Amino acid sequence: MKANILDGKVISRDLREKLKQTIKDLETPPSLAAIITSDDESIKAYVKSKDKVCSEMGVLTHNYYFPKDSKIEEILNLIGKLNDSPKISGILLEFPLGEEIDKDRLVSAILPEKDVDGITPLNAGKLYARKSCLIPCTAKGILKLIKHTGINISGKHAVVVGRSNIVGKPSAALLLNENATVTICHSKTENLKEETKRADILVSAAGRPNLITGDMIKKGAVVIDAGTTMVKGKLMGDVVFEEACEVASYITPVPGGVGSMTTTMLIENLVEANILKCL
Ligand code: NAP
Repeated sequence: MKANILDGKVISRDLREKLKQTIKDLETPPSLAAIITSDDESIKAYVKSKDKVCSEMGVLTHNYYFPKDSKIEEILNLIGKLNDSPKISGILLEFPLGEEIDKDRLVSAILPEKDVDGITPLNAGKLYARKSCLIPCTAKGILKLIKHTGINISGKHAVVVGRSNIVGKPSAALLLNENATVTICHSKTENLKEETKRADILVSAAGRPNLITGDMIKKGAVVIDAGTTMVKGKLMGDVVFEEACEVASYITPVPGGVGSMTTTMLIENLVEANILKCL
């Protein structure tokens, strides 16, 4: 079997065309405020590429940089102002935050209606309760990619490797909400291969290059590789791509798979947040 490639760039392009038109039709363009507290070069590069996409899509962006030793009160003060500002539709905390920063305090301070990354406790709770909410962008993109294959998710066995609040858990919740039977694996899972081998849908979000080898994949499975780790200047996924291609029915490449969908889902969430702001 040679797997079909789920090309996130192509799927994204179509979604972005539709979103662009929706944005054109809005009375006020959506605007995104990003808070950056790390001086990591890869974050700066990500912010730059995100801003480029936003600008092409007609979304306004405002970036707020805080030095590593900033007091949390200063950042909380800014979040309060952004929450109150009618000019701002969405607020994004760029991860990783500086080491000293209390992430939970910042996340909880964001108004849930402006939480375009879907990370506030209210949005997370609503996702698990199957209520309408802003959903974490990467998880939302993963579900869109799975749906793009045309498979009926209901009743399928889905295995998610990774249990972070931003990727693993929300991906599992979305699949459960689609009536898949879901297993979540993590670093303490005793026999990972035994679990992954049973997956009709396998999502890997561990950030461990070469974790998923071909012999860990069920024949015909849909394989979504969310992992992105820079190794000697090369972006690596979690899945050994060439091996997986021989067994899977569909697979996402790295780069050009999940990552391409994340920014598109951010724009989709911003449009939703902008509509909430105007209600
Ligand atoms: P994270 O917070 O570090 O979580 C990683 C998860 O993987 C943890 O739950 C960890 O288990 C589990 N894990 C680690 N090693 C494992 C192993 N050997 N076997 C099984 N599980 C293992 O990372 P994250 O923020 O969720 O991100 C995950 C990956 O997705 C990273 O590579 C990240 O760069 C990438 N990512 C990509 C996008 C995109 O747009 N493409 C967006 C966000 C993140 P424990 O909980 O037990 O520690």
